[in-house]
Amino acid sequence: MSNQKKRIYVCGLHQESNSFNPVLMREERFSTWEGDEVAGFYGRNRGIIGGMIDTLVDSGAELIYGRYMTASSGGPLEDAVALHFIEKALADIAAAGKLDGIAIALHGATMSASSDDVCGDILAAIRAAVGEEMPIAAGFDLHANITEKISQNADYACGYQTYPHLDQHGTGVRAATLLLRHLSGKVGKTAYARVPVIAPAHAYTTESGALKLLVDEAKALVEGGEILDYTIFEAQPWLDTPEIAAAVVVTAENAEKAREVADHLAKRQLEIRRELQGTPLFDVDDVIEKALANKSGKPVVLVDSADSRGAGSTADSAAVIEALLPHRGKLRAAVGVCDAPAVEEAFRVGVGNCADFTLGATIAPDLSRPVTVKNALVRSLHNGEFFAVGPSGRGDRSRCGRVAVLDVDGILIQVSSASRNEKDIGFFRGFGIDPELCQLVSVKACTSFRAAYGPIAAEICNTATPGAAGTVLTALPYKHRPEPLYPFEEIGVADIREAVCYR
Ligand SMILES: [Zn+2]
Repeated sequence: MSNQKKRIYVCGLHQESNSFNPVLMREERFSTWEGDEVAGFYGRNRGIIGGMIDTLVDSGAELIYGRYMTASSGGPLEDAVALHFIEKALADIAAAGKLDGIAIALHGATMSASSDDVCGDILAAIRAAVGEEMPIAAGFDLHANITEKISQNADYACGYQTYPHLDQHGTGVRAATLLLRHLSGKVGKTAYARVPVIAPAHAYTTESGALKLLVDEAKALVEGGEILDYTIFEAQPWLDTPEIAAAVVVTAENAEKAREVADHLAKRQLEIRRELQGTPLFDVDDVIEKALANKSGKPVVLVDSADSRGAGSTADSAAVIEALLPHRGKLRAAVGVCDAPAVEEAFRVGVGNCADFTLGATIAPDLSRPVTVKNALVRSLHNGEFFAVGPSGRGDRSRCGRVAVLDVDGILIQVSSASRNEKDIGFFRGFGIDPELCQLVSVKACTSFRAAYGPIAAEICNTATPGAAGTVLTALPYKHRPEPLYPFEEIGVADIREAVCYR
């Protein structure tokens, strides 16, 4: 680097949207840090933004800190969230004086009420403000949807290389390192190749199988010095947009090399498209049969990942409850559903009394249907707070609105007025339900629950259920997706456009 101190503006917005979730995400749902608070991330934040800040500060650069905001997965953003973020970034940049570069931490699968591509909008607005020459380095989730707008406006786009995600901080380090390299005169060239494939997020991992082989191949190219950086982006599939696709992004010393490697890795991504779809899922009824036959003393875990809040769904589907009801009196089961009106009804009915309840489909009525439960006992009522049992976040305090536990002759239903990731056993145990004493436990979660449930489960069954994060992608009501798009249509090499270097 030259001796002159580089001045870099840092900001970020991180949220994963699910277009099938009809509840728009409001600004109040975000945790937001500004200026000096973001500077306080140095040495403390394990996300992309922390990796960027640590690397840039350690390099001796002068950082100008903007806004950083993050929220859980959910529906698309209210327009105001993106507009206010962009306004703030442009005001900061206008007030910053001379800048040398921009580092921005994004998710990449973020939509709003009126935009399919909030991250592209942010990058385009910043690009328009700073001009064509200033380098912009962006960090993303592996599940980003890398659009044309992102490709045209970011000089560097680094995404997580692992799933489960273990390298958030490292991703920020990579993006910041490329930015610093650029500012020292060693300008990298980034090629973008999009592959028309989507895959359900539960079905693949970078720890084994086809995606691991592909990632290992790309990693070897970096280690061998052939390229500077790569990301294999598997887009979050529940984005109903005309641009949804997987993408390969490669940065190299020159554009020819970046394009050549991106084209090659894109072909490999095409080749593994079938394996990325995973194996067929269990039917709910088959899992219930397994539980009825199970004599191990441990629960069969029914994974209702389609309705996982962690994947942006609404947690209001009662589909599993509907399938369990014919077995009332014969099966001890634990199952949750988010249904605020039913919780209020249970508080009216009172503990120890029985009533009929209608459960489910109160938030996303198009994705599942309500179920009537006759003569359910209100077993207990709660303020909704529970403590995580762990292993991750052990002892953390969590809330899911108010909670009523209904007992339907041994089928124990945790009805909450607000949704919560169900990965932790505390979600049941905190309300007097012990999953270890059940023959079947239904969990609305994707992958994270395995840490807690793996050791106590007789068997874990990924199950075909309805929901905004539906695992059978071809069964979801996409209206805007492109054609062809695998697995909806078969595709071939001719459907991959050649890699492009825009900058
Ligand atoms: Zn992700």
